[in-house]
Amino acid sequence: MKRPTRAKVGYQVYTIGWLDESEWEAAGLPDNTNGATRPSHGIIAIRLGFNRSEEWYRETLVHELLHACFAVSRIDVYMDDKVLDAEELVCNTQAPMLLALFRENPKVLRYLTGE
Ligand SMILES: [Zn+2]
Repeated sequence: MKRPTRAKVGYQVYTIGWLDESEWEAAGLPDNTNGATRPSHGIIAIRLGFNRSEEWYRETLVHELLHACFAVSRIDVYMDDKVLDAEELVCNTQAPMLLALFRENPKVLRYLTGE
């Protein structure tokens, strides 16, 4: 299955980059993460190179898309540093749930997406 390179989140179009280790480093992205979302640039980066399964990358993409949802919905306006940890908590805990929900309920997903 081809990896997506574009996602529309609310009004904003995000470009999704699948970066190998050298590209990740060249982009100056943090060493302690496997994904990064830059709402002001409309960019989501997923880090390859850990020999992870495709399933891992899917979950990472859902995680980053949740960050994009937070940014586009401007929840950040109401957040201080302490609450930003809550965003990470929500993304970490809900990304695997959403991925499983979509995967295990194809009829629900088709209904929701109007297909
Ligand atoms: Zn995160």
